[in-house]
Amino acid sequence: MAGLRGGELSILEGFWEKEADHTDKTNSASAQWEDIFAKLLIGGRWQAASTATAVRNPASPREVVGWVAHASAAQVEEAIAAASEAAAAWGQAPLGERIQALQTAATRLRALEGELTRLYVRENGKVWNEAARDVSRSIEVLTVVADEAASWLRPHGFGPRGTVTVYPRPRGVTAVISPWNSPLLLTMKRLAPALVAGNPVVVKPASSCPLTVMAALEVMRPLFPPGVLGLVSGPGETVGMALAQDPRVRTVAFTGSTETGRKIANASPNGIKRFLLELGGNDPALVLSDADLSAESVEALRLGVLRATGQVCTAIKRIHVHRSRYPELVDKLAQSFSQVAVGSGLDPRARMGPLQNPNQWQQVRALLERTQAGGAEVKTLGSMLEGSDPEGYWQLPSLVLGAKPEDEVVQVEQFGPLVPVLPFDALDEAIAQANHTHYGLRASVWTTSIEAARAVAQRLEAGAVFVNHHTYFQDLRLDFSGVKESGLSVSTEHAALEGYVDWVGVGLPGD
Ligand code: NAD
Repeated sequence: MAGLRGGELSILEGFWEKEADHTDKTNSASAQWEDIFAKLLIGGRWQAASTATAVRNPASPREVVGWVAHASAAQVEEAIAAASEAAAAWGQAPLGERIQALQTAATRLRALEGELTRLYVRENGKVWNEAARDVSRSIEVLTVVADEAASWLRPHGFGPRGTVTVYPRPRGVTAVISPWNSPLLLTMKRLAPALVAGNPVVVKPASSCPLTVMAALEVMRPLFPPGVLGLVSGPGETVGMALAQDPRVRTVAFTGSTETGRKIANASPNGIKRFLLELGGNDPALVLSDADLSAESVEALRLGVLRATGQVCTAIKRIHVHRSRYPELVDKLAQSFSQVAVGSGLDPRARMGPLQNPNQWQQVRALLERTQAGGAEVKTLGSMLEGSDPEGYWQLPSLVLGAKPEDEVVQVEQFGPLVPVLPFDALDEAIAQANHTHYGLRASVWTTSIEAARAVAQRLEAGAVFVNHHTYFQDLRLDFSGVKESGLSVSTEHAALEGYVDWVGVGLPGD
C-alpha cells in the first residue's frame, strides 16, 4: 500500500508564514493609477463615465481606495464596436507578435508586483501573502500561456498522409466577466489565452474590487493595438448583461456565481455563441478513518477552509469525517482556528483578513445566526488584532458542529470563514452526502492509502479531486472546470487556449 501523509506539499509553503513578507513600502500604490480610476478603456484610451462609485477598503471602509465607473449603454456599445473593428487585424497578426506582447506584459507587471499587491490588499482585504501569491500567479499566467501558445496554437497536419491541415482560427470579440474574490487571477486566466489566440477582449470586472485589474490593464495597454484590450465596468445586470447579449461578442468567459452563470447562459436570444462558465462550489473534504491528522494535515485543512477568509470558489465548504476520528479532528481544528489572528492584510501579524464587501459580510452573519437558531453549535474561534478598525467587515473563524447533512449551512456555498464538520459511519454514506449537492467543483480525500484515495475520488462528483490538500493545481496549463452546476465540465491541458479558437480543417482532394 502506498503511504500518503497529509500536507506534504510544497503548495502550502508561503501561505501562512509567521512573518508576512511585505517589506515593500509603496504607499502610493493607488496614487500611481489615480488617473484611470472612474474610467473605462475604450478604443485604446481611458474615458470618463457620468457615474462612478467608491471602492472601499474592507478592513477600514471609510478609506476610499479608488473609484469604479458605471458605463452607459452607449459606452458598452462603443467598446464592443472598437473591439469588433480591431478583430481582423489582431486575428491576422503573426502569432510571434501576440506571444511577444504577453511576454512583455509579464515583464512590465513583474516590475510593479509590490505596488499591485498593495493596491490589491487595500481593495480586496486579503492578507499580504495571499494577495502577493495571486498577483504573482496572475503574471505567471501570461508567460505560461505565451509558452503554451508557441507550441500548441499552430496549424498541424491530420490523417495518415497529413494532407488535411487543421488551422486555429480566433473566434472574435470575447467578453471576460470576473468576480470580486480573486479578480486579477481570474481575469488573466481568461484574458491571456483569448488575446494570444487572436481575439480582442472586453473585460468587465466586479464593482467591489476592480482596481487591480484596471491597473494591470493600464500596464498592458501600450502593447496592444487600440480596441484589442478594453474594459467596461458597472452593474452586472446592465453592463455585464449587455456584453453577454450582444451578437458581436462571440465568446463569453464568465467566472462567478451559478445564479449569474445561469442568467448569462440564457442571455443570447439573437446569436449562437460560446459560453465558458466557471461557477460556484460547495466542496466537500472527506476525512477517512485512516487519515493522518498531524499538525501539517490540520494546517492544510485549515488552509483549505480559511484562505481568503473562505471566499474561494474551491474552498472546503464542509468536512465529512469518519466518526472514529470526529472528536480528534474537531479538537485539533479548534486549536488551529484559535491561533488565527484576524486583521488588516497590511498588518504583518494578520493571518486572515476581513470579508470583501458589506453584502457578503451580512450574508455570512445572517447564515450563522440562522444556523445557531436551528440548533447547531457555532464555535467562534481566533482573535481580532488590537488596533483593527471596528468598522471593518470582520468575521472570526467558526466551526459548526451538530449540523445535519440537509441543513442550509451544509447545502449552500457559504463563502465565509466557517465550516460544518459532520461525522459519518460508512464510506458509502459519506460519498452520498458529498455528492448530495447541485454543485460539483472540487473535493478532497484525506487518507494514508493511495488506493482508497483513488477509489473514492472516482466516485466523487467534482471537476477535480485533491488528496490530502485542498488548494489548486500548481501547473497553470492545467484546469478542470466544475461539473453539475459548477461549470460546463470543459477541462484544459493547454492553459485554456482550447476555449478561444475554432479549429478549421482544410482538405485536399481525396482526403
Ligand atoms: P457574481 O456572479 O455575483 O458576479 C460575477 C461577475 O458577473 C461580476 O463582474 C458581476 O458584476 C457580473 N454580473 C452579475 N450579474 C450579471 C448579469 N446578470 N449579467 C452579466 N454579468 C453579471 O459573483 P461574485 O459574487 O462576484 O463572485 C462569487 C461567486 O463566484 C461565488 O459563487 C464563487 O464560487 C464564484 N467563483 C467561481 C470560480 C470558479 O472558477 N469556478 C472562481 C471564483 C469565484
